[in-house]
Amino acid sequence: MNKLKEKPILIIGGGFSGISAALEITEASSKSVIVVEKNPYIGGRVLQMYKYFPKLCPSFCGFEINLRRIKSGDEGKIKFFVSSEIEEISEIQQKNSGEQETGNNVLSAEGKVSSLPADASSENRGSAAFNANVNGNGINVNVINGNGNGNGYKVKMRQKPQYVNDNCTICGECAKVCPENRLNDFNYNMDKQKAIYITNISAYPSKYTIDAEVCKFDSCKKCESVCRYNAINLNAEEEIFDIEAESIVVASGWKPYDAGKITNLGFGKYKNVITNVMMERLASDNGPTGGKILRPSDGKEVKNVAFVQCAGSRNENHLPYCSAICCLASLKQSIYLREKNPESNSTIFYIDIRTPGRYEKFYNRALSDEKTKFIKGIVANIFEDESSGDLFLEAEDILSGKKIKFRADMVVLAAGMVPNQPAIKTSNFKFDYDANGFLFSQNDNLGIFSAGVAKNPADVYSSVQASTGAALSVLQFSANKRG
Ligand SMILES: Cc1cc2nc3c(=O)[nH]c(=O)nc-3n(C[C@H](O)[C@H](O)[C@H](O)COP(=O)(O)OP(=O)(O)OC[C@H]3O[C@@H](n4cnc5c(N)ncnc54)[C@H](O)[C@@H]3O)c2cc1C
Ligand code: SF4
Ligand code: SF4
Repeated sequence: MNKLKEKPILIIGGGFSGISAALEITEASSKSVIVVEKNPYIGGRVLQMYKYFPKLCPSFCGFEINLRRIKSGDEGKIKFFVSSEIEEISEIQQKNSGEQETGNNVLSAEGKVSSLPADASSENRGSAAFNANVNGNGINVNVINGNGNGNGYKVKMRQKPQYVNDNCTICGECAKVCPENRLNDFNYNMDKQKAIYITNISAYPSKYTIDAEVCKFDSCKKCESVCRYNAINLNAEEEIFDIEAESIVVASGWKPYDAGKITNLGFGKYKNVITNVMMERLASDNGPTGGKILRPSDGKEVKNVAFVQCAGSRNENHLPYCSAICCLASLKQSIYLREKNPESNSTIFYIDIRTPGRYEKFYNRALSDEKTKFIKGIVANIFEDESSGDLFLEAEDILSGKKIKFRADMVVLAAGMVPNQPAIKTSNFKFDYDANGFLFSQNDNLGIFSAGVAKNPADVYSSVQASTGAALSVLQFSANKRG
């Protein structure tokens, strides 16, 4: 009798939530997962944090625990495709007679087996497991109306050219000779890096990557000639993969709200008005200032920082919802500031401070610091004093009933989280986003689940809980499908 092989589970997004869902699924079952991540590294936004609340441990700490879990799991059960995005998903209508499901059906559109990503098991590279569906046998794909028949999904994925391969030892010799620069998006464009670069110290896969938008390729080739490990192939090409998946977990996370849209608060106009995500990078040892909290206009150590809560959040003109973490993020950043610059003062302008459950302790910690002040009131406007670069915040202090004009040398806007909505063509069903772009798991009967901030604004702890929930739903869906 043929052994029934299962289709893998597709996970969109390799942030904390996607990784957690992948681990929970594979540790609790015999299933395999494919994680598709658009960045050249996994780990998501948490890696851009300096530390994370409530324990204030370094951001790579929890990530490294997860990496250890990945490495100690069964080889090949979790496959990561970085620098990759899903282009199209359609539901499989029916299986042909014989009903033998195919295994890891990963093949290129040209019908040629594509190479596997960096961390795929070596025994599986180009092996029969990935060759199972080369001729398209056994699968009859039709467009249907999302009726949740349980036959799974056919997925088309593109992976950007992998110019640097797994031979890379991250020695950095290539970047030394590279003549071209790019804006460092990991640092929210606050500094530059070479066209061949490594995104962060925890980058996994652990290798350099090339920004094709700025690289001069054949007219340069300096990196290729200096690399002693044969790790660079400037002729690498994009690959297209067809995948079959049993069910899907959307864990595509968030992006910061565009603070430039809140015109009265001066972001994009005044250099010393920054956002909370930028503050994380300024505080980070591997950030643009080497971990010193210096203000952007003149590089002076900041002494008097104002945090503006709900910058755009809970506002019908911007984000109508509470992003759930911004109060905690500002309390955390105020603690960074006070630790790094002990002479500094921190002032937090708030509507209400939201620190649910055990996070109240964190609030109390900030409250007990005499150099951290709280002013209840919405900041109406921010202006710059051109000569000094300082900023004036106009607000009403609700508790005293007075209008105030507050002078700060830097302002941090606590901008909210906006869910990412992967631009995927779905011809026969649709992702059921709510009015704000979050994807609740209403599609349970379709085998489509969501996790982390793709589902709702959340901290890491709640994101991981949601991922465990999504993993359980995946396994329940699979069990129900089998009857
Ligand atoms: C300023 C600030 C500070 C914070 N500090 C803390 C803290 O101290 N402690 C805490 O618990 N929480 C904190 N948070 C919240 C925390 O960042 C989130 O809870 C966490 O990032 C959620 O992880 P996620 O995996 O759901 O999303 P993400 O971290 O956003 O990961 C999603 C992943 O999906 C990828 N992706 C997106 N679209 C696609 C696509 N189309 N195809 C493939 N991949 C895609 C992304 O590249 C990313 O890697 C903070 C948030 C902010 C704004
Ligand atoms: S690509 Fe080559 S030169 Fe560059 S870091 Fe990797 S091994 Fe070193
Ligand atoms: S080929 Fe591209 S990445 Fe390599 S050194 Fe030249 S510009 Fe830099």
